[in-house]
Amino acid sequence: MKNYNVGVIGATGMVGQRFITLLADHPWFKLKVLAASERSAGKTYREAVGAKWAMKTPLPEWVGDMVVKDAVKDMQDIAFEVDFVFCAVDMPSDQIVALEQGYAKLECPVVSNNKEHRYYADVPMLIPECNSEHIAVIETQRRRLGTKRGFVAVKPNCSIQSYVPALHPLRGYGLKAVLACNYQAISGAGKTFETWPEMVDNLIPFIKGEEQKSEVEPMKIWGEVKDGVIVPAERPLITTQCLRVPVSDGHTSAVFVKFDKKPSKEEILKAWAEFKGEPQRLELPSAPKQFINYFEDDNRPQAKLDRDLEGGMAVSVGRLREDTLFDYKFVCLSHNTLRGAAGGGVLAAELLAAKGCFD
Ligand code: NAP
Repeated sequence: MKNYNVGVIGATGMVGQRFITLLADHPWFKLKVLAASERSAGKTYREAVGAKWAMKTPLPEWVGDMVVKDAVKDMQDIAFEVDFVFCAVDMPSDQIVALEQGYAKLECPVVSNNKEHRYYADVPMLIPECNSEHIAVIETQRRRLGTKRGFVAVKPNCSIQSYVPALHPLRGYGLKAVLACNYQAISGAGKTFETWPEMVDNLIPFIKGEEQKSEVEPMKIWGEVKDGVIVPAERPLITTQCLRVPVSDGHTSAVFVKFDKKPSKEEILKAWAEFKGEPQRLELPSAPKQFINYFEDDNRPQAKLDRDLEGGMAVSVGRLREDTLFDYKFVCLSHNTLRGAAGGGVLAAELLAAKGCFD
């Protein structure tokens, strides 16, 4: 596979730091540019990130020496220097749209972790194992933006990245209704226990905007490409609750599901065990070998024990059993800043690279 020069926009943030750890020795992508706000621009990355470095692994020396650019003022230079950028920034929505479209219009593709482009019908929102065929809409988007090469691709919200993969291989049984209660880690808010001590021994029953995303985004993932755009699925009916819990990393979901044709427990377990998506078939570098992992032990999956499975890119499932109101219930877990954020972004970029979208 060809090598690509890449940039990280929002490099000093929680997701940006994850991108750096994943890209520091990536076999295809070479980290060339780090960019953030004007507060960080001109400083070495070491100075700019300072005590905010929240990764368990130390900052690589050569990355610490890189000089941070201004994501907005230096856009032209950055777009020229790299083959594509990853983007995860905390800015007002209109500015994020302008930033991402700005890079795309300079013929620099953007793989984004931000929410702003998720509902555009010509922007693929990728869980690479579930909807790789949505890449086809990039051609429509390029016509809209007037670009030859530039486009925006996004990854969905971290809250859906355990239950959508677990439900995906069961769609053949007709998903009718889904209820998901999400227990979400504090890193999802860009925080640690040091920066958010109020979360120790606590639970907050509200995460702004999260339930709407958790209910709407799966319908786009399960949508079909028609006339060059993604038409969202109309079923299943989904309802969710999202709670912030005192866990550093790893979003857990308690899921209830009703089918048109109720499968047996054995059929569900077989569908999970055998499920492979395009990343597994293409053997992409960040793809987990086994995407969905079922634990027989009733005490699993546990956030602390299981979030790092297959480099934090796998989904862990447990406690599958029949339910009185629905057909079945189960519990699933995914690492919110790896599979749910930067890792999911890197895997999406690997898929786009393998399909020739950056050439
Ligand atoms: P964060 O830790 O607050 O980091 C924000 C980043 O944005 C920093 O690098 C910051 O740079 C940069 N930034 C702020 N204002 C800017 C400006 N005017 N121009 C350029 N860069 C600017 O946020 P985060 O948790 O990494 O989240 C970033 C994005 O990813 C958000 O859209 C979030 O919703 C999304 N996301 C997060 C997670 C997660 O698990 N945390 C998961 C999925 C998606 P400075 O340091 O220079 O201020």
